[in-house]
This record gives sequence, structure tokens and C-alpha cells, in this order.
Amino acid sequence: MKLTIYRLIGFVSRLLFPSYGCCGRCGRTWNICRSHITQIDKTTGIFPLCQSCWETLTPKQRAPYYFEVFFRWQAERYEHGSALLGDDVFKAIDRAVTNGK
Ligand SMILES: [Zn+2]
Repeated sequence: MKLTIYRLIGFVSRLLFPSYGCCGRCGRTWNICRSHITQIDKTTGIFPLCQSCWETLTPKQRAPYYFEVFFRWQAERYEHGSALLGDDVFKAIDRAVTNGK
């Protein structure tokens, strides 16, 4: 029930604040909910989920949201002709998520 309400709020917030990023699960924009930042190395953080969704899911359930961001990054790099990220980045994301970070 909570997720349904969050998704409704997310739908409205994306209409009102289209320039903001949002949680990959509930869709609430970052100006109305807190993101959960996962450090994949000393300088790079990734935040595909809000704190509430992150707390609800197991690491295995969280992983697809993180991998989606990785593949979006790859698609953007491909589109712009930039060098693609290496396996090391994917493995760093996988390791951080698996370790519950
Ligand atoms: Zn969420």
C-alpha cells in the first residue's frame, strides 16, 4: 500500500518537477524524498533508490535498479561516442550492492 501511494506521489512529482531525477522504484523526485547513496569507490556514488525503497528491499532485489543505472550510463556514453565503462565499474557496483551498501 505504501508503495502504491509513493508511486502516485512519484507520478505527480515527475509532472511537477520534470528536471529532477527520481527513485527507480517509486518514482518520487529527489526534491521530495531522500536518496540512498551507495559509494562504489572513493569518489563515485550511485543513487538509483530512495532511502525508503532501499530499506524495503534485499540486496538481491536492489541490484536490478543499480544495474539499470550502469547500462543507462553505457548507453549515454555510446550515444556520445565516449569510451564505455569497463567491467571493473560493473563489478564495483555489484560488490557494493551485494555487501548491503
Ligand atoms: Zn523510492
